[in-house]
Order: sequence, then structure tokens, then C-alpha cells
Amino acid sequence: MVEYLWDDLVAPAPSDPLAECVYGSRLIGSDPAMVLHGGGNTSAKAPFSDITGQEVETLWVKGSGWDLASIEKEGFAPLPIQRLRQLLDLDSLSDIEMMRELSAARLDPAAPQPSVESLLHALIPHRAVLHSHADAIVTLTNLEDGADRVREVLGEGVLIVPYVMPGFDLAREVRDMWPSGGDCSTGMVLMNHGLFTYGDTTRQAYRRHLDLINRAARWLESHAPHRPAEGGPLGRVDPVELARIRTEISRAAGRPMISVRHATAEVARFVGRADLSSVATRGPLTPDHVIRTKRIPMVGRDVAGYADQYRLYYQRNLHRARGETTMLDPAPRVVVDPEIGMLAVGATAADSQIASDIYHHTIPVLTRAEDHLGGYAALPEGDLFEVEYWELEQAKLRRRGASPELAGMAALVTGAASGIGRACAEELMERGAAVTGLDLSPGVVDAFDSPAWLGVPCDVTDPAAQTRAVERAVERFGGIDIVVVCAGIFGGVSPIAELDASEWRKVMAVNVDAAADLLSGVHPFLRLSPAGGRVVVVSTRNVPAPGPGAAAYSSSKAALTQLGRVAALEWASDGIRVNIVNPDAVFDTGIWNEELLATRAAHYGIGVEAYKRRNLLGTPVTSSQVAEVVAELASDRFAATTGAQIPIDGGNERVV
Ligand code: ZN
Repeated sequence: MVEYLWDDLVAPAPSDPLAECVYGSRLIGSDPAMVLHGGGNTSAKAPFSDITGQEVETLWVKGSGWDLASIEKEGFAPLPIQRLRQLLDLDSLSDIEMMRELSAARLDPAAPQPSVESLLHALIPHRAVLHSHADAIVTLTNLEDGADRVREVLGEGVLIVPYVMPGFDLAREVRDMWPSGGDCSTGMVLMNHGLFTYGDTTRQAYRRHLDLINRAARWLESHAPHRPAEGGPLGRVDPVELARIRTEISRAAGRPMISVRHATAEVARFVGRADLSSVATRGPLTPDHVIRTKRIPMVGRDVAGYADQYRLYYQRNLHRARGETTMLDPAPRVVVDPEIGMLAVGATAADSQIASDIYHHTIPVLTRAEDHLGGYAALPEGDLFEVEYWELEQAKLRRRGASPELAGMAALVTGAASGIGRACAEELMERGAAVTGLDLSPGVVDAFDSPAWLGVPCDVTDPAAQTRAVERAVERFGGIDIVVVCAGIFGGVSPIAELDASEWRKVMAVNVDAAADLLSGVHPFLRLSPAGGRVVVVSTRNVPAPGPGAAAYSSSKAALTQLGRVAALEWASDGIRVNIVNPDAVFDTGIWNEELLATRAAHYGIGVEAYKRRNLLGTPVTSSQVAEVVAELASDRFAATTGAQIPIDGGNERVV
């Protein structure tokens, strides 16, 4: 059931229809049971006074690039209604022509590109219009006898429109069907698509929207009750197998892809169905999901077989393509498997999240329809293909711009809660990678708020804990392409003559032993990386130029450097690059505190400020500078470099 949330104390008065529309749009846009990732749009009709003072009857319709949940007035494009009606009188209008005409008709050239549904909004003779893809409504429309059920459940006042591709054709279809009286309708259901309601005010349209959705939800609850899954989540799957599947998917896609495992009780119940391969391959709830999820998920693990099927589907339906005619990549975006559960696949962690959200909404619709309501029936594949290869849908994806250089790559960074490790995690995410950060500090969990971030509290000196953290990284993002070995401690400062043996062993345990454990544990994943594995070891200037008093730190980092060099030798044949950075005097890190700074400065007989710039260039060195070099080494620009040691120390006369 959907809650009625209109608040008269907050909502703008109907005298400001656009402000009212913004309020109503946000209400429906923030409910994922109605509007999920762009499915839906809204409009208001109001006079627009132009620069000459002339009043133009205007449609304010949602523009592209705006989410309903956060839309502002600037998210709406003003269009002259009379012009839209003229366009509707044409015999035909291609998508490209329609979008050009809509764009040219804008009364404000700075307004966003108007929705492809603008013509439909214009012909509805009500001031306020709301459109959503509500789950409860599409559940009804996607039944075997969908139109009859919609009529039975929603009653006579609802216009039922058979599926037509959105745009000019749909607007024409609705215009031809619209009852001449115009007042008998409480709403309009588009089969296999969604719901329109309208009214004199957005509030009225919103009330009707909720009334119809709740009528459908009540009917579904009594005829096809949804019960929470009783079983538990799925168990462990060999992480190397998860990485192998993700690598095959990435090869099919032609680029590294993020693949996120979902194994909740709800997913477990779905993938445990005996008829999984039939139920899961009926098709999406609404056609605009195809650009996110593909037409059907992959059932099982045969990526090559899925890609072959996709090629055949492409060839079979090529004559239906509108616009783009080169084949899109044939890799699945959703995988269902009885042991794994669901894998949600995307070019980035955010894309994977969208595919996951959509499929989590799809599962209960499929099961209800299949188990209680006579069966689920999606659109024929030709109609879905038409939307998948629709210029205007592909444009939605393209508008987000070129992929960042590390998009689809999964990184693991140790010591990621602060200092250089945190800066590396941030820089890698900025360049498009998904990052798992390990740190002793529990604060690592919330270090970043992003679908591309997984923070795992972990004592790296506990091999079992580190192994579990690596497994979590693979479950979360599908594999590991980049490893940044950054966790490290400085230890106490003392001359060798007064060596504290336990302190020595502690420093060795964190700086060397844990790193050796980690590299050994991640090798199977780096070897499977679709992009070629990359490791960056954060060592120190102390290795080529040690200072007195820090024997444990310098020795441990020298061993770490040697570990990295051996890895470069051993792993080159696996396509894995291992490089080393030697920063020095990076004072914005957890290793340094005021006391240590003062001690070291005193050791050299200079002040703290001078100590911070004690290098050839006289420049301070920051965590973010180190992070940029690390990310650069992890990028393709260093594709021909392995085993290198790069100073990031402002220049040191004992090193150059
Ligand atoms: Zn729609």
C-alpha cells in the first residue's frame, strides 16, 4: 500500500501550478514503488507571459536529466500547447524530428530537453498530469489477461491503452482513444508501461494516482498475497568462481564490469524455484528497464551461451531498430543462479545498483503473477528490442558522458581510513573504480558514502580476518583488479642498541607479514582481472636513504619493497604489474603526530616547519599528491611499467 503524503501546510497553493507540480513530482519520485530510476514524468499547464507581455498557453513538462525525487522548477521545460497540438496533427513524425521540434519550441532556450512524452501530456485536457510506472499497476498489466484484470480492478473510469512505443505514436493513439466528453476518466493505464492520472490540481491528480495504485495493491494482496521468505540467505560461494564469472562477463562486454552478489532470503527463494529458467526469462516490467537489465537475465553461468543468444536476438529483430544499429555489448546485466543468488552487473557500481534495484522490484511481480494470477506475460521481444535500440533511450545513457578511466575496475586499499590510504581510495573512486577499504579503525565503514565504497574493519595482521575481507570485496564488486598496499606503522624511535624486540616484531607484522599474506591471497583475483592486475606498494624514501633511530620501520619497508619487486618478477607472466612508491615527509597522515614531528626536527637540529620542507624542491608533500601518483600507476598510462620505484619526496640528494 502506498501512503498518502500530501501536506497542505507545506504544499504550494494551486495558484502556482508549477510549484505545486514540483511538490507532487517529488512525492511520487521519492517512492521507489512508483518511480524507479527515471520511470515517470509530470507536467502542469499554466499561462506564460512572454517578454512582450503576451500570454501563451503553456505546458511545463519534466525535462531530461532531472530525477523526479529532487526536481526543481528549472527541471521543467515550457512549451506552447498550441504548437504541440499542431505537431500532433501531422501524419507522422520521427523520433529525431519530434525531439528537434520539441527542443525548438521551448519558450526558454535554457530549459532542459523536454520529455519524449510531451505531446501526450499536452493533449490531456487537465492542468496537472502525473505519470509513474507503479509496481502494482504493471503487475496487473503484465498478466496473461492484463487488460481484463485492469478493467476489473480499477473500474470503468480508467482508459486502457494497449502498448505503443512512447513518443509520437503513443500520443496519437491516446488522442484517437480519448473519450470525447473527457470527464469520464479518473486515470489512464498504459499496458506494459504505467499509469497516468490528472486533475485540475496536482493534488487532485496525486490523490487519484494513489487511489488507483492502492486499489491495485489491495486486490493483489487479497488475490496474490506476498509473504516474506522464510528461508535464510544463501551460503558462501567460492570467490574465485565469482571472479571467473565476472571476468567472462567483462570480456563479453568489452570492458571491466562491476558484478555485485545479492544473496538475501528473498533472492534465495526466487533462485530456488524449480521453474527459475522459465520465470526469470519472461521479460522486464516496463520496456525502459531493458537498457539497465537487458531483456532477460542470464540463468546459470554460461556467459558465452548468453552472448550467443543475444546475437541471435539482435539479428532476429534488427528490422525493428530505430536509430542505433550497431550491436550493443552482449553481456548480461542480471545473473540468477541457484547457488550464487543474483549478480547485478554494471559499467560502474552505480549502474550495478540500478540493475539490482530494478530486479529486486521485478522478482515479487514475477512470483505473484506466476504463482497466483495465471502467469506473467511481458511484451513480445520485438517491442522490447525497439526500445533497447531506440536512439532516445541510448541517448539517456550517453548523456552521462564518457566513462572515467577506471570505470568498472575493483580496487582494494589497506589502511584506507586515514592518511595516504584514504587519499588513494578517494582518488581511485574519483577515477571511476569501486573500492574496498581495509583498516583497523571501525571508522573505515563510513569513510565514504557511495555505492562504489565498501569499508571493512580488519586487523591485517590476522590472516583469517584479511582473507575474509578479500572475500567480501569479491562478493561486493565481483573481483579485484587493483591492490594498494598501504597499511603501515612507524613504531617507536630508538637506536638499535636499545632495540625493543616486541616493537620490532609488531612493525614487521604490519608492514611486511600482513602485506605478504595479502599479496598471496589476492593473486588468484589479480590474475583473473579482465584489465590486467595492478599493484602499488606504498613504501618509503627510508628504503634508499634510511635515517638513524627508525631501524624497524626502515627494515620492514625495505623487506616490503623487496616483496613487491619479487611479485613484479613472478607475476609479469600473469599480466600483473607491481610498482612501488617511496613517499617521504607526508605529514597529513596518521603516522605523524606533533611529538614525533618535534622529535625528528630536533634530531636534525631544525624547526618543525623547516623539517616539513626539508627536500631539494623545498615543497611539502601531501597525501593527495601520493594518491595521484598511485592512481596513475594503476592506470593504463603505465601499462609498460612494472617493478619501478618512484620517489614522491620533493627530491632527496641521497636518492637522486
Ligand atoms: Zn513512462
